[in-house]
Amino acid sequence: MRRDSDEELLGKIKIGTILDLALTLPISYEDRRLSEHIVPGEICTVEATVISTGSFGERFTAELYLPAFSTNIDAIFFKATRYHRKKFSKGFSYILRGRIKLFRNRLQIVQPKVVNSVGDIIPRYKSAIADSKMAELIKKYIDEKSLIEAGLLPEEARTILKLHFPQRYVGGIPQIGERDKRVLKFAEAFNHITKLRSKKRSFEAVEALCGDPSFFFEKLPFTLTDDQKRAIEDIRKDLSREDRATRRVVIGDVGSGKTMVILAAAAIAGEKGSILMAPTSILAKQLYEEAVKYLSHRLKIALLIQSTQKGDYKTADLTIGTHAILYREEMPKRALVMVDEQHRFGTQQRAALESMVKSGKRHPHYLQFSATPIPRTQAMLESELVDLTTIETTPFSKKTTSIVAGKRDFSHILGRIESEMEKGHQTLIVYPLVDESSEIPYQSIEEGRAFWENRYDGVFVTHGRDRNKEEVLENFRDGGKILLATTVIEVGISLPLLTTIVIVGAERLGLATLHQLRGRVGRNGLESVCFLYTNHPDNERLKRFCNTTDGFEIARLDLLYRNSGDIVDGTIQSGQKFRWLDLSSDENIVSIAKKRAKQGDYVNRKIGKQRSEREE
Ligand code: ADP
Ligand code: MG
Repeated sequence: MRRDSDEELLGKIKIGTILDLALTLPISYEDRRLSEHIVPGEICTVEATVISTGSFGERFTAELYLPAFSTNIDAIFFKATRYHRKKFSKGFSYILRGRIKLFRNRLQIVQPKVVNSVGDIIPRYKSAIADSKMAELIKKYIDEKSLIEAGLLPEEARTILKLHFPQRYVGGIPQIGERDKRVLKFAEAFNHITKLRSKKRSFEAVEALCGDPSFFFEKLPFTLTDDQKRAIEDIRKDLSREDRATRRVVIGDVGSGKTMVILAAAAIAGEKGSILMAPTSILAKQLYEEAVKYLSHRLKIALLIQSTQKGDYKTADLTIGTHAILYREEMPKRALVMVDEQHRFGTQQRAALESMVKSGKRHPHYLQFSATPIPRTQAMLESELVDLTTIETTPFSKKTTSIVAGKRDFSHILGRIESEMEKGHQTLIVYPLVDESSEIPYQSIEEGRAFWENRYDGVFVTHGRDRNKEEVLENFRDGGKILLATTVIEVGISLPLLTTIVIVGAERLGLATLHQLRGRVGRNGLESVCFLYTNHPDNERLKRFCNTTDGFEIARLDLLYRNSGDIVDGTIQSGQKFRWLDLSSDENIVSIAKKRAKQGDYVNRKIGKQRSEREE
């Protein structure tokens, strides 16, 4: 049989870099050295000579002499074969390995195996290839020199080597201390970073965009926040380059004013043209209205959604639309494309938008906007691959109070809803389900709606499976009082009069989801309240949620609770999975890893390649 090459073996276990391999630690060790003690209950390796044998049916015993312990012991086989009877003939000596037992005051070694090599501590792995192959690969490629070349310091390298090749048998499983763990975390972060650095590609831009956006700024009825200005400045620098097409993601909480940043970018692109894609028609329309308000005195603006088309997208300076854009074959080439609420699109859709307006090898400048804050540590990692700007402040200081509420507080909630109604403000009630279910100890929309409908006018209902969702939302916005919904309401539609939200069964939702929901109220600075309605009002996670409104901090807390096993919904992805690194607390390690990767200009190397043969 042909032996697999190292490359094939490594391919099977999806290992590409020295550090990937170095981080594949044994899950246990087997002590193949001769035992110093024979202890009942333990597996021992001993030198033994056969003194006599006996058979009882299938059962076969051999009396052994152990010279190292000057004692006799019985080897016992319950289903002996010819092999056993032949092998264990009087006078032969072997090294045997098996579990020791005390039986009627005599020591036994149960079904021992003959061991051919002794003297080693053999590592066991959890991998798709044989342990011996894995061990061979590690012996061959992992040593102090290769680890140092991969970017580790000598003492870090030695820590990792110690885990692979322990000097002392330290028990069946690897003993990993706090300091070892820190090295593993570092190696993992560093490995990830250097991979991202080598994946980062840059293309020439279709063209440099250096338009003067002051015509847009002059129209604004407010001054931009510092974070908005900083984001626009990042983008202005990006767009002015022709040698490198921008790939930037702007992350800012709901209500942080990303639309202004989008419009500023469109203003810089000016007549050279840009395209903006949004995940829903309603959002596309909203963006279109804002664009008309602030840009149409200078630019031609078109809207392209399934049901409607406004303006001529073939000649427009700024085309705003949904994924319907992707199905227009005659889309003119553009130097800037943007995606709002980018996390609502698939990777393929986002790539399709880019390649649609690409011009030969030149790529459009590409800006993506996300309303899903990620933990800062994760942002630090991702910024190795794409440029990131975060918008961490909101234009209005949000006056939203969050309250954990239980059954007892229901009349208080009703009072609040009614007094807000008198002011012309609206309420959103988020239910966990549309239909009744015995699995969830809360009412569904269908169970709850009669209560609201009998009591108040202007009650609207929508949910994820509702085909008329967008229409219902628009009607509610323009005249409703109470909206009953499921978490679908996450869609980035602005409901400026919404001042109360009641989230039923709040403890069942992830913090990121709760935060998105809470972001629905008080968008325009109106004093507002978010009730977290729950049967468990002492829930610590909910209490901590009430104490912060910073989306980036909430993303971190969300991860922290998810890591601790408190996974409640699967709606927001929690990012890259690491074995050692904890993105909710290892910011410091990531920061050191980033610095070292940058200083040494490290990129990930495929195993076997020299440092000079850098990956292209
Ligand atoms: P996002 O898209 O980040 O969720 P929006 O761009 O929709 O947020 O902005 C939310 C609200 O804040 C909008 O009504 C917008 O007009 C307003 N806004 C944006 N920037 C400012 C600012 N600098 N000062 C005052 N209001 C602003
Ligand atoms: Mg937005």
